[in-house]
Amino acid sequence: MIDFPKLEQAYRNHGFYALQLEVGDVCHQGCIYCYMNALDVPVNSLSDARIHEILQDAGRLGITAVEWLGGEPLLRDSIFEHMAFAEEMGFRNNMWTGGLPLGDDEILCKTARYTRKGFISIHCSSVDPDIYARLHPGRPAGDLDIILAGVGKLLERGYPAGQMLNSVTFTGLQPLEDMIATIGHFEREFGIKTSLNVYHTYLRPDQNREDLKRFIPPAGEVKRLYERYSTHWGMEEYPMNCVNKQYCSATLAVLCDGSVTPCATIREKEAPNLHSGKSLLQIARENRDHLIFAGFRDRGNLPESCRTCRLADICFGCRSRAFAAGRGIYGKDPGCFR
Ligand code: SF4
Ligand code: SF4
Repeated sequence: MIDFPKLEQAYRNHGFYALQLEVGDVCHQGCIYCYMNALDVPVNSLSDARIHEILQDAGRLGITAVEWLGGEPLLRDSIFEHMAFAEEMGFRNNMWTGGLPLGDDEILCKTARYTRKGFISIHCSSVDPDIYARLHPGRPAGDLDIILAGVGKLLERGYPAGQMLNSVTFTGLQPLEDMIATIGHFEREFGIKTSLNVYHTYLRPDQNREDLKRFIPPAGEVKRLYERYSTHWGMEEYPMNCVNKQYCSATLAVLCDGSVTPCATIREKEAPNLHSGKSLLQIARENRDHLIFAGFRDRGNLPESCRTCRLADICFGCRSRAFAAGRGIYGKDPGCFR
């Protein structure tokens, strides 16, 4: 799913491997913990012409993979035109859908076609209907069935399970046992691996910090979950980064308001913006050190506990969790239990 030699090369060259591109902010899946407060009414500001320019600049930046993000990226009418163009440019298309649009057969087939060199990630944090309902208040009970049926159809039609992921978010609203059971369900029933996010967006717009504390899972449970997760990926110990520190460093994000940030979950208010008249290429070159966390190339700049950590070659903690906790992007990851 990741071209590790290219990722390593991008990291070594202080370059970029992946572009996270938010092509819309609308989503109907209603996840209670959504980090961007996905909306029912669109306020997305990236025109089709702008997305075209962004992809061209991504080519100039040597990017390998486009991570199509939303809201729900499959709700954008022009999404497949952009994915076709990205494919022509030689990018891997990685689709991060909630899964509901896969209930439409035409969307499902086109998604499979344009991600043939990349992957499809769906989002299903629980397969228990009661827990799913708790995590998606106000949504119809049939949503979970639509998502699971979409996964089944993709596999029936020959889409490889090895090119699919289930992206989950572990929050304090869900029992640890259920999260572990969900990982097992996708592994056993579909042969699909899980991509784990431990809740880390304490600074959601319009939400009181105290209210958000209930989303933060206890450290002891995170530790036990990581034990299962490491086994799931055949690793002795999985780093605290969503892939590893190399991916975290070599990724940049264009948010749907035009902001350019180091990661889509780092929603900086003062970030450089494409609507200022600068291109992605200019912004990436002028802000490269910030976007790749260049300060961490020197081990002495790492948070104290990371400097001597046995995982430091592949991990420097999730920068978004540090940012969201008010510690800045170079702060210690508050979600690290090591
Ligand atoms: S900041 Fe966190 S979520 Fe973003 S790429 Fe890095 S590890 Fe992943
Ligand atoms: S101490 Fe630092 S390097 Fe080690 S696991 Fe935690 S965040 Fe990663």
